Amino acid sequence: MMVEERVAQMVARLKDGEHRITPQRLAIFKILASSAGHPSAETIYGALLKEYPTMSLATVYKTLAFLKQEGEVLELQFSDLGNRYDGNKPYPHPHIICTGCGEIVDPCLFDLNDITQKMMAETGFTIVAHRLDFYGLCPECQQKNLNDLAG
Ligand code: ZN
Ligand code: MN
Repeated sequence: MMVEERVAQMVARLKDGEHRITPQRLAIFKILASSAGHPSAETIYGALLKEYPTMSLATVYKTLAFLKQEGEVLELQFSDLGNRYDGNKPYPHPHIICTGCGEIVDPCLFDLNDITQKMMAETGFTIVAHRLDFYGLCPECQQKNLNDLAG
């Protein structure tokens, strides 16, 4: 979904729930909706500090907790990368993670509905969520490795 479209959707849903949309919250929504690299709370805070110098990291954490509770953001927990967020696709989907720089990307070629249906049929489970992570090196980190080798 387009970033502007997704921000508008988040705002509309939260207004329906009679939640207040402050300029700071809106700025956080915009970063989450673009979901570039799947930012951490600290990354979001760092990106907004210049424009909102009075904003605290606690505000970012509170907004993330609120959006998670409303089902408007997907939280990905990692032991080494901390918590990372996707506000563009707030539902389970596969990710590819760079072990060099920690960037996280959504590969678009997956549809897990079919495999989920088959798994439920095979096991008798009802499946409500899933987590599928691929690890590797992003193009930038591959290039950096080549440059390092070349000295
Ligand atoms: Zn990388
Ligand atoms: Mn994602």
